[in-house]
Amino acid sequence: MSKRDYYDVLGVSKTASEAEIKKAYRRLAMKFHPDRNPDDAEAENKFKEASEAYEVLSDSQKRAAYDQFGHAGIDGQAGHGGGFGGGFGDAFGDIFSEMFGGGFGGHRGPQPGNDLQYELEISLEEAVAGTTVDIRIPTKDICDACDGSGAEPGSDVQTCPTCHGAGQVRMQQGFFAVNRTCPTCHGQGKIIKTPCKKCHGEGYTHSNKTLSVKIPAGVDNGDRIRLQGEGEAGEPGAPRGDLYVRIRVKKHAIFERDGNTLYCEMPLGFATAALGGSIEVPTLAGKASLKIPAGTQSGQRFKLAGKGVKSVRSSYTGDLIVQVNIETPVKLTARQKELLEEFDASLKGKHYKQHSPKEHSFFDTVKSFFTGEEEEKKKSDKDQDGPWNG
Ligand SMILES: [Zn+2]
Ligand SMILES: [Zn+2]
Repeated sequence: MSKRDYYDVLGVSKTASEAEIKKAYRRLAMKFHPDRNPDDAEAENKFKEASEAYEVLSDSQKRAAYDQFGHAGIDGQAGHGGGFGGGFGDAFGDIFSEMFGGGFGGHRGPQPGNDLQYELEISLEEAVAGTTVDIRIPTKDICDACDGSGAEPGSDVQTCPTCHGAGQVRMQQGFFAVNRTCPTCHGQGKIIKTPCKKCHGEGYTHSNKTLSVKIPAGVDNGDRIRLQGEGEAGEPGAPRGDLYVRIRVKKHAIFERDGNTLYCEMPLGFATAALGGSIEVPTLAGKASLKIPAGTQSGQRFKLAGKGVKSVRSSYTGDLIVQVNIETPVKLTARQKELLEEFDASLKGKHYKQHSPKEHSFFDTVKSFFTGEEEEKKKSDKDQDGPWNG
């Protein structure tokens, strides 16, 4: 397999400084780190490739050898570490401790368990009022038969004779010494003769558990609730991961929410809009009464103070904004048509401007628009020398 040039991998020049190399590697490592790209083989390969390049270029001796002899100069020296958290030399320690708060040194402690995420769909009412929901999640626990050792209780467990329990071996190759995952025990540090029957030597058992989750009042779409220690078990002696419950709020038939504010649109009969009156509006807490002033226009908005939402992070309750949309009556009877025509005629009398100010001013504008156009036309006719004769 031919390898890419290490400088190309990191995207730096052959004369790049130590700082530039470190910066380039940090950028790539952040981007392709397996923790950020779970189950992404391509990202994993890119991460390994960048790590290998960094391991060589960040070490002045290895870099000199690479510059002089290419990959042949450092063959067998780098990049065969064998997986994450295991084989990387101390060259990475500082970068990873900067990035991830430690845990990537040559000697690692027991690893904490993985976090789990659960998508929970709830209604708007539940999100606003809070609720308690039972969820079923997969659980990974340390095997209680073998206490996570993976060995059948009472059976013989040997400390690995190759690495003496360290899980890593130091190999001298050419000028360099590198740490590698122990080939005998594959990093476990021990040799199990009889695997535990309950967990088949894995040290963990897998099952499902039901968890009662309290959803606080006021949660919103995308909020995450952290349940500490409800994730997967870590290695013996390390803490469990956490469970994150991610809230998805279902679309509501009536209300839309934006932070603490609720919105709702409702139709309004045009007689009520014209005459004014009191209408019943829905709120999350039941029905409320809303006063419609005479002469209300379509699209007008009304605020019902304190009928919105109190979000998890705020101390006040928002408002409900009701937008009324005037409904034009349809399928009129002959009598209704007659009444409306009569009514319409009454509007168009000498008080037209007063009853329908918008319509009036609009048609005024339209009128002057056409008049202006006509004058423009007359003018341009005059400008012409005469009929065009082809
Ligand atoms: Zn077991
Ligand atoms: Zn070993």
